Amino acid sequence: MDLRLTEIQEAARETARDLAEKKLLPAAAKLDASEAFPDEALKELAGAGLLGMRIPEAHGGAALDMVSYALTLMEVARADASVAVTLSVNNLVAETIERFASDELKATYLTKMNEPAGLGAFALTEPQAGSDAAGIRTRAELKGGHYVLNGEKTWITSADRCGVMLVVAVTDPSKRSKGATAFLVDGNAKGMTVGKHEPKMGQRASHSCPVFFKDCKVPAANMLGKEGEGLKVALSGLDSGRIGIASLSTGLTQACLEEMTRYAKERTAFGKPIADFQAIQWMIADTAVDLEAARHLTLAAAWCKDAGEPIGEKAAMAKLFASEAANRSAYRATQVFGGYGYSREYRVERLYRDARVLTLYEGTSEIQRLVIARGLLK
Ligand SMILES: Cc1cc2nc3c(=O)[nH]c(=O)nc-3n(C[C@H](O)[C@H](O)[C@H](O)COP(=O)(O)OP(=O)(O)OC[C@H]3O[C@@H](n4cnc5c(N)ncnc54)[C@H](O)[C@@H]3O)c2cc1C
Repeated sequence: MDLRLTEIQEAARETARDLAEKKLLPAAAKLDASEAFPDEALKELAGAGLLGMRIPEAHGGAALDMVSYALTLMEVARADASVAVTLSVNNLVAETIERFASDELKATYLTKMNEPAGLGAFALTEPQAGSDAAGIRTRAELKGGHYVLNGEKTWITSADRCGVMLVVAVTDPSKRSKGATAFLVDGNAKGMTVGKHEPKMGQRASHSCPVFFKDCKVPAANMLGKEGEGLKVALSGLDSGRIGIASLSTGLTQACLEEMTRYAKERTAFGKPIADFQAIQWMIADTAVDLEAARHLTLAAAWCKDAGEPIGEKAAMAKLFASEAANRSAYRATQVFGGYGYSREYRVERLYRDARVLTLYEGTSEIQRLVIARGLLK
């Protein structure tokens, strides 16, 4: 792996950093408090060509390499993790469409995904099946030239704002993991309704919603991949998605380090800055090591993806380490702030809440370990 960044990668990072500092960070606390969807932030990102980072140029996207994408997400997450996860899911869906959809479907949806109104959502999880994705029950039955969808999804990021949703549904219940199929469902499809977004601990400006399908007709041509390949399609998207969440986690860890370093120099106790106490220095040092390690694992996985190498285990390692490092770092940042770290007036309180979900979504830490161990033991 070449550790030097290319000019394009540097430029992507600088553009994202500038926008994140000027536009995203100043708005983040208010969006968190109100749980309002980050419309303005997404417009800004779209204007800078960063909403559809992974979309090919032929479809109006920035066609960024994975390393540039990871660096960009780190900068966005450093300012606002809710905006970063919205971006990350949009690009996960776009990449999956690019890989598995027909040219007609690509033409219909990919260009629109460069704008907030065309956002992508990814619907795999159901109330009774999360980690056990093969346990989903939403049915898709072929009737005439359409599949008819019935069932329920839960926790679907951006579902209430999406232009297109990638939905995995069961086409052959007798085959379990080989009986699911992936479809693109238009955001305005009749028979699909989206419930109110969940009230969450963190990442509150990202909306996670239940979705209900009642006799929702989807053209057979909207299938991604082949019938029975739905989990393969979804899991391939999640491999890239995990690099996205690892990047997001790394950006959040960076924010924790910056906050605790600044505060440690400003706050005094026992007549000196708390930065003079070794206990505080160790928390700062441990966070710096976590940050560096998370960044390297994440960029290494992204680099492998750009090189066309298999990324399943590398993406799982990056996601596992970076998400747990972000949680450790947010805990330490709160500790360095003392009682003020527990106050909503301070940014570390939001970082602490925003970090928690990182080890849960797009595969829990336990599932990442399972993926890594399976790879080693095969
Ligand atoms: C904010 C948020 C946004 C989300 N966005 C989306 C989205 O856009 N699209 C989508 O499809 N889903 C989304 N999800 C769902 C998310 O991916 C699931 O919550 C996650 O996969 C875990 O599934 P679960 O909640 O059903 O937990 P469960 O699968 O019930 O797991 C419960 C516990 O059991 C452990 N466990 C389960 N199986 C094993 C095993 N084999 N070995 C060891 N431990 C195990 C888990 O690690 C966990 O600790 C989102 C979730 C959240 C919280």
